[in-house]
Amino acid sequence: MDRRSMLSSGALVGLGAVAGCATNSDAATDAKTLFSVPQPMLPVAGASEMFPVRRIYCIGRNYVAHAREMGSDPTREPPFFFQKPSDAIQYVAPGTTADHPYPTLTKNYHYELELVAALHRGGKNVPIERALDLVYGYAVGLDMTRRDLQRAMGEEKKPWEIGKSFDHSAPIGPIHRAAQIGHYAAGAIVLKVNGAIKQNANLNQMIWNVAEQVSKLSQAFELMPGDIIFSGTPENVGPVVPGDVMEGFIAGMPTLNVKVV
Ligand code: MN
Repeated sequence: MDRRSMLSSGALVGLGAVAGCATNSDAATDAKTLFSVPQPMLPVAGASEMFPVRRIYCIGRNYVAHAREMGSDPTREPPFFFQKPSDAIQYVAPGTTADHPYPTLTKNYHYELELVAALHRGGKNVPIERALDLVYGYAVGLDMTRRDLQRAMGEEKKPWEIGKSFDHSAPIGPIHRAAQIGHYAAGAIVLKVNGAIKQNANLNQMIWNVAEQVSKLSQAFELMPGDIIFSGTPENVGPVVPGDVMEGFIAGMPTLNVKVV
């Protein structure tokens, strides 16, 4: 079908119909979209509303022993951040085990179990004392990593993107509201693979706590509602292969169960 006959056949009408409704008089917002793009969302435990995810920020080397195992000086150097695309989310419902695809290009695929903070308010230059006001709740997440690619890119002083920011690289459970479970000053964080404990630490061992992460991050980026922050992993990261089952536990939340396939 050529363009003229498409336009006259009404084939485009269905596409236009999927566009979101314009809610103001700005001509640009009246434009129809060519196709719809899913908004990544996470369920909220005990609530009917979904949490729409805008950006995924991740903090690197936020536990001393993990910083050491990654070969850096574990003194309190400023936190550093990277992002994953929001559609890297793989939602895992409590009580289920999600099949997680072993990604392409890697021969050394690593787990990193992390506390995730979910923001319902934004801000720039947020003071530490007010930073937790931005935090709506928490989730259990895995910052899955193609370690060989991450290392190779680092050695070449190239971006980490291919090692960290690939499809399905962020398995995550539902968000638990801080209004219900509180904010974390401490708590067990434990990852098992095939029933054997691999990571076993406490959230109070973070170099930069969640309030400090939010504050520092807001100096570099304007934070917005829907942003989520992976707060870094403790020591003893390691590889998984197809067939392995990971169980991620953080005190106060249900276990995140993921099978590599
Ligand atoms: Mn990480």
